[in-house]
Amino acid sequence: MTTNYTGRFAPSPTGPLHKGSLVAAMASYLDAKAHHGQWLVRMEDIDEARTVPDAAQSILQCLQAFSMQWDGEVVWQSARKPLYQAAFERLGAHVYPCGCTRSEIADSTVGPGSDGALVYPGTCRGGLAPGKTARAWRVRVPEAGKDMQYFEDRWMGRVVQQLATDVGDFVLKRADGFWAYQLAVVVDDADQGVTDVVRGADLIDSTPRQIYLQQLLDYSTPRYMHVPVVTNTRGEKLSKQTGALPLDVSRPLEELMDAASFLQLDMPMPDTVEGFWKEATAQWAQRFAAP
Ligand code: GLU
Repeated sequence: MTTNYTGRFAPSPTGPLHKGSLVAAMASYLDAKAHHGQWLVRMEDIDEARTVPDAAQSILQCLQAFSMQWDGEVVWQSARKPLYQAAFERLGAHVYPCGCTRSEIADSTVGPGSDGALVYPGTCRGGLAPGKTARAWRVRVPEAGKDMQYFEDRWMGRVVQQLATDVGDFVLKRADGFWAYQLAVVVDDADQGVTDVVRGADLIDSTPRQIYLQQLLDYSTPRYMHVPVVTNTRGEKLSKQTGALPLDVSRPLEELMDAASFLQLDMPMPDTVEGFWKEATAQWAQRFAAP
């Protein structure tokens, strides 16, 4: 069967997979399988300061231990910098250099945005103030009231955001010289022909920025599904920083059943990992893929 579905799992190799990242991986994998589509794996190692040696290999080994086989070659963001540069150049006058430091932005911000981050007040929009040097590069967002970004999330429903008041002009090239996640992810999803992004809801506030960049770059917009994120007892998203333990690859069925139950699949205990995927895919297809 040929279908026009390409999904992806795009981990940042900052540590081994944990229960939270398995949920995101599982949701994207099941959605691809339920649509008879391709499932790609992309290592988001663009932020070299956060990349941990061997984390990428451990993530890939873990996916294989759970029988989550990806299609094609794994793509590494660190090897794709010329693509990000080319897209950045295409943005032309939509981008401008910014000389503000974090503390200057904190002092002059118009408030915290939807994801709690500081809203950039647009200080350098009209040109660098005298005596300032370019640190980061930002993309202009439309004036408040001129453009509401919205999309229909396949899990969360309609999401609306006004970039001007929720985010402000956002960074595409960082002060440390690295490409920002927002640009790299948009370029890669377009370049890899991704039709469906399935990931954790911690990224839902980024999606309007990504759709805006897709529009500026004339890319098509994929469908989006943001699944709930696993939190610890303090309500923090599981991550290495919040003390998440690596998955136990010696107990694949238990780990898979845990993640499936978090995704609200009602699974009988299967005998094998293959049996698990068969049943989970059937249930996912019933919920999220038209027959
Ligand atoms: N690399 C991001 C992360 O691990 C995910 C990016 C995405 O799925 O768009 O949080």
